[in-house]
Amino acid sequence: MATSYPDLMLYIDGAWRKSAETLPVLNPADETVVGAVPVASRADLDDALAAADKGFRIWSRTAPAKRAAIILKAAALMRERIDEIARSITLEHGKPFPQARLEVIRGCEFFEWDAAEGQRTYGRVVPSEPGIRYIVHHQPIGTVAAFSPWNFPMSQPARKIAGALASGCSIIIKAAEETPAGAYHIARAFHDAGLPAGVFNLVFGVPADISSYLIPQPQVRLVAFTGSTAVGKHLSELAARHMTPVLMELGGHAPVIVCDDVDPVEAAVTSAVRKARNAGQVCTSPTRFFVQERIYKTFADTFAEKARAVSIGNGFDAGVEMGPLANHRRIEAMEMLVADARAKGARVLAGGERLGNRGYFFPVTVLADLPDDARVMREEPFGPLAVINPVSSLDEAIEKANALPFGLAAYAFTHSASNADRLADGIEAGNVSINTLEASVAEVPFGGVKDSGYGREGGIEGLLPYTVVKNVSHRMA
Ligand code: NAD
Repeated sequence: MATSYPDLMLYIDGAWRKSAETLPVLNPADETVVGAVPVASRADLDDALAAADKGFRIWSRTAPAKRAAIILKAAALMRERIDEIARSITLEHGKPFPQARLEVIRGCEFFEWDAAEGQRTYGRVVPSEPGIRYIVHHQPIGTVAAFSPWNFPMSQPARKIAGALASGCSIIIKAAEETPAGAYHIARAFHDAGLPAGVFNLVFGVPADISSYLIPQPQVRLVAFTGSTAVGKHLSELAARHMTPVLMELGGHAPVIVCDDVDPVEAAVTSAVRKARNAGQVCTSPTRFFVQERIYKTFADTFAEKARAVSIGNGFDAGVEMGPLANHRRIEAMEMLVADARAKGARVLAGGERLGNRGYFFPVTVLADLPDDARVMREEPFGPLAVINPVSSLDEAIEKANALPFGLAAYAFTHSASNADRLADGIEAGNVSINTLEASVAEVPFGGVKDSGYGREGGIEGLLPYTVVKNVSHRMA
């Protein structure tokens, strides 16, 4: 299979730009350099701000149906180019090629859903006394400064670009420097689909330099970020100083409650397969398993057996189910969390050690019987690490699920309608999934509570952060 990687460029005011300064892009499967990402200068950022300001004036006054047509054309181009985009993703991120293809499809679904929703940002007429009319409008908020992470190189930037463009906003997105090709391919598709210049601008660089420069600018009317809670809090503080609203999709530490009315083997196999997806580098990855005592041993043993069977290797090799971790920081994090858990008495049922020393390979690792003070019980591993503990009751499981400051995705397995109701009511999370480990699809709102952030992406709620509500009171003469 051809493994060409694009000649990356910035995209500002409808034109491609090189930069004298670049950063290397590594293939995490073998640590070779596959490309170079351009670093935006201050002048590039100023140009992007001016272009986005101009782009907003054009795009916000473009008919929603015309906006939708351009977004759908771009999505159709991405679907046509799926293999080329997926190859770039596997090269820079490491995930298996079939998973990279699924990511591209998911990203296109975000564009397609939001394109349709952008035509339905209805306001309302409020009943009033005779002679006066109140009309509530949802208007596009303005220029969006967006920051997307490296775990889904195409679908993460797609979420933010889709929301902004479907609502009539312009956007400057700083995509992830370690996995820049997904956003680059999106820019290419929009360029080819005829998006007016300035509406969509793509930059890369040193994240802190770019965010601290863009966020205080008066043109920026919304900051949209996906990444860690620590960085999200920092960017929210920066935005608050300028009274700029934020959309924050931050970390999680998803609990999974397994009730003893289900088949523990089936639940364990489903869970282990899902844990391996994207090598666990997903904010909704199932991580803290609380299993009712009667089925605990069967569940843990089956999970470990399936974890050991996951085929790990280069994402381009046939049959590979899990690629390397995306960067060396994740290897360090896995090693630290496993060492800490071992020292505190946890049992390692599968994995636990880095595989080889070339490429960032780490197996699906299963830890059991952990004390509450093990770091991995509190810190999001963001890698292929699952922790399994027994619980004696549903109440205990719900209490443990809610014990952390995170509240993004949560899962449960049960066939009891009354258990399902108690779980759905009692778990503090933006997304609760029962008997499925899927938490985020285009047609439902996705986002967190507590330290996992605020605002929603997707569903009919997904465009709200990109709009402002204006009430017009009109007394008729
Ligand atoms: P990190 O906290 O340094 O960075 C997280 C993301 O934020 C990266 O994409 C990075 O480029 C960006 N970032 C960092 N500082 C920034 C700044 N000052 N301004 C703008 N953007 C900034 O950690 P990392 O090692 O890259 O990622 C590991 C952690 O990030 C994980 O533990 C996980 O919690 C979180 N993460 C979450 C998601 C998600 O989907 N919610 C995705 C990727 C990473």
